[in-house]
Amino acid sequence: MSILILAEYNENILSSSTSRLVGAAKKIGGEIDVLIVGDDVKNLAQQLAKIAGVNKVLLANDRVFKHQKADVLCKILKDIIIPYSHFFASSNSVGKAVIPRLAAELDFMPISDVMFIHSKNKFDRPIYAGNAIETISTKEKKILATIRSSAFVPVEQGNDAKIENVKIGEIKSKVEFIKSTNVNSDKVDLSTAAIVVAGGQAFESKENFQMLYELADVLNAGVGATRAAVDLGFAPNEMQIGVSGKIIAPELYIAIGISGALQHLAGISGAKKIIAINSDADAPMMKQADVALVGDLKTILPELIKKLAQ
Ligand SMILES: Cc1cc2nc3c(=O)[nH]c(=O)nc-3n(C[C@H](O)[C@H](O)[C@H](O)COP(=O)(O)OP(=O)(O)OC[C@H]3O[C@@H](n4cnc5c(N)ncnc54)[C@H](O)[C@@H]3O)c2cc1C
Repeated sequence: MSILILAEYNENILSSSTSRLVGAAKKIGGEIDVLIVGDDVKNLAQQLAKIAGVNKVLLANDRVFKHQKADVLCKILKDIIIPYSHFFASSNSVGKAVIPRLAAELDFMPISDVMFIHSKNKFDRPIYAGNAIETISTKEKKILATIRSSAFVPVEQGNDAKIENVKIGEIKSKVEFIKSTNVNSDKVDLSTAAIVVAGGQAFESKENFQMLYELADVLNAGVGATRAAVDLGFAPNEMQIGVSGKIIAPELYIAIGISGALQHLAGISGAKKIIAINSDADAPMMKQADVALVGDLKTILPELIKKLAQ
């Protein structure tokens, strides 16, 4: 068995997702290689070589890979993945574009959004927008899957894996890159934050959501929201936590004015500790919480921010 992982990075910064994917691959066992494809990413290959459990790092470094376009990635991946039994990518925009495309070209069935690994060919994934969890057993000879990285624990650093350059022939892209927009680049990344504070529709307005940002600033936390809060326009889409949003696994999750609907809870099952603030002591979120504070968020939050700031 040998597993290849597509490394995730953004603007020359390695995402902790790659280390989580190595953690996922370890559940299967065998040799784990990591592939990094990009322009000017040699320094990232060196960082990847330090991830414990990585056998070798494959480096495809060329200008043509600058924007990680799915068509060029697939052209190079078709050959690279030949010796591997599994090829994993994060369930991010790159992985979601590459894995199905590659699977279609090679005539394999892709598996998307893996959140639990039972064995080398048995996986759990959410279906019906998270209303059910499906267990898939596959007989495919090669398994191509996108992985919900936050559902897995990252591995430690401590390795000196070899780095191998991938031979790159002439590759042309039919895709024209126009622009990319970085949202909230100055904010703590919600997917990988150690502390996450999140709010629901109980905030009643976008303006009141400002209290959440203030609390996050004091705690150096990422900020999330329920789908109800997003639908009401209190917070942007990318802040949604849950089965149809982001899956997070912080050390501490602070849920404020959030009822704890199943679809929301599915996004926080990896949280180590939960604090809930809610006016209803019987809300499902309060039952999930390690610390449950009953009260009105509009009274509690300003006080909490003031005390924490001191
Ligand atoms: C297919 C599908 C997919 C979905 N995906 C997601 C998803 O990914 N993420 C997600 O979050 N939801 C998702 N949902 C929606 C989900 O079912 C819930 O509707 C949603 O999570 C509820 O959001 P909420 O907790 O903000 O609102 P509510 O359920 O209305 O809860 C509000 C809570 O705030 C409390 N409260 C009210 N006033 C105050 C106050 N002043 N102070 C303190 N507490 C107060 C109330 O007691 C209550 O517990 C999905 C639904 C479907 C059908």
